[in-house]
Amino acid sequence: MYPETKKLSSREPVNMDQSDLGFAKQIGEVAGTDLNACLTCMSCSGGCPMYTYMDYGPHGIMRLSVLGLKKEALSSSTIWRCVGCHTCAAVCPMAIDIAGVMDYLRGECLKEKVQPGDRPILEFHRAFLWSVRRHGRCHKVELMGHHKLLTFGSGPKAWFQDAILGTRMILKGKLHLLPSRIMSRGLSQVRKTVVGDWLNM
Ligand code: SF4
Ligand code: SF4
Repeated sequence: MYPETKKLSSREPVNMDQSDLGFAKQIGEVAGTDLNACLTCMSCSGGCPMYTYMDYGPHGIMRLSVLGLKKEALSSSTIWRCVGCHTCAAVCPMAIDIAGVMDYLRGECLKEKVQPGDRPILEFHRAFLWSVRRHGRCHKVELMGHHKLLTFGSGPKAWFQDAILGTRMILKGKLHLLPSRIMSRGLSQVRKTVVGDWLNM
């Protein structure tokens, strides 16, 4: 059994009293997809490259959403570990936009101030947006440094695990210590459009 699935199987059963049956409808309206059409065939999870690292997997998130188990869906690691590759949607016999649902649920997780199922990934998104807001494009060295600061609580091992690789990449010219910035007109445009609510939530 995969480690994430094993962790899940040792948890208390989900309390169905908290079910919000309007949740799937709400997702469907915003994400533009009908979750009630899901057959629970698991084709999405079978094709998902990140399934090993997820607790519920895409089919599980669909099921939780249809059952109205909002808290479980929003606090899952699945919605943060999804990389938005759309493989699931390509194999889904009911053409459900699963990546769109994951996107919506990540936003809801922040809006509802639910503890994210994988905080370091959220902090990585924030560090990326912060760098784009400053330069109009991502400065990778800054992104790494910022991400390490934001995830300081993960411990010294996490802090230094990429140090040797990073130094090698700098020496080979694959990473640049100084940022390059886009022209100021473009920069103000990027600041207006790229940086959403994620930096403020
Ligand atoms: S592939 Fe589509 S129909 Fe099958 S479980 Fe996933 S979302 Fe549901
Ligand atoms: S979009 Fe997300 S859930 Fe779908 S296959 Fe890719 S990683 Fe998995």
